[in-house]
Amino acid sequence: MAGQLEGRVALVTGASRGIGYQLAKLLAAEGAHVVATARTVGGLEDLDDEIKAAGGSATLVPLDLADMAGIDRLGGAIHERWGKLDVLVANAGSLGVLAPIGHIEAKTFEKTMMLNVTATWRLIRAVDPLLRASEAGRAVFLSSGAAHSCKAFWSLYAATKAAGEAMVRSWANETANLPLRVNSVNPGATRTAMRAMAMPGEDPDTLPKATDVAAAILPLTLPSVTQTGGLFDVRKNCFLAYRDPE
Ligand code: NDP
Repeated sequence: MAGQLEGRVALVTGASRGIGYQLAKLLAAEGAHVVATARTVGGLEDLDDEIKAAGGSATLVPLDLADMAGIDRLGGAIHERWGKLDVLVANAGSLGVLAPIGHIEAKTFEKTMMLNVTATWRLIRAVDPLLRASEAGRAVFLSSGAAHSCKAFWSLYAATKAAGEAMVRSWANETANLPLRVNSVNPGATRTAMRAMAMPGEDPDTLPKATDVAAAILPLTLPSVTQTGGLFDVRKNCFLAYRDPE
């Protein structure tokens, strides 16, 4: 049976492990050619092996998203090879540090903002024309419940995810009259390296696996999506309402 993304091209950032890795595998299993990017070549190669063993195809792009010109070049390379992009999964992210706001080092603040916000913007800018060129462009930004819960010590990470969501909502409003659909997703606590870093005392076996979370996110990448500018909550398995300003 043909996959739901046969003949489509999907770009996944942070594809070397965790949620991005699993989502990349699922996209390939649906027939998409996956452009997988991250810094860790070993993780990307493992992904490539798994995708190929299952009969799929991928292009690996080792890239540090701190390299803004590299992001632009990636957009250019996708344009040259395919002339369009059907799916963007903006998944790469960093926790930065959990600390009282007055204790966050400037370097950590800037690095985390750069990856979670600036690189996400740069990526969107690089591929926006390519997604518009697709007959059913879909973009998904991995946000976090932290953007809304704003718990003590999570200020840096929370601010980056809130910024990302705001950017994505504006982008959705800019493109609402196009076939393009762009949404944020809150995966909820997931059994990955990032979660282990945030909650070292937690038993990972109590958390949903990245494979299951990725499976819940996959539908947001499919041509059947109608919603744009929304926030999908994996745990609740539905879109949450954003409140309009009063
Ligand atoms: P992981 O830490 O397991 O994976 C993060 C991915 O981002 C890795 O593939 C990593 O690749 C990539 N990445 C990190 N820094 C860079 C960089 N400078 N350049 C390029 N790639 C980079 O995270 P998760 O899978 O847990 O998280 C995925 C997304 O989901 C993130 O945006 C996270 O904020 C969000 N999220 C996760 C939750 C959880 O409980 N796990 C909860 C809520 C949200 P490499 O190091 O090889 O470059």
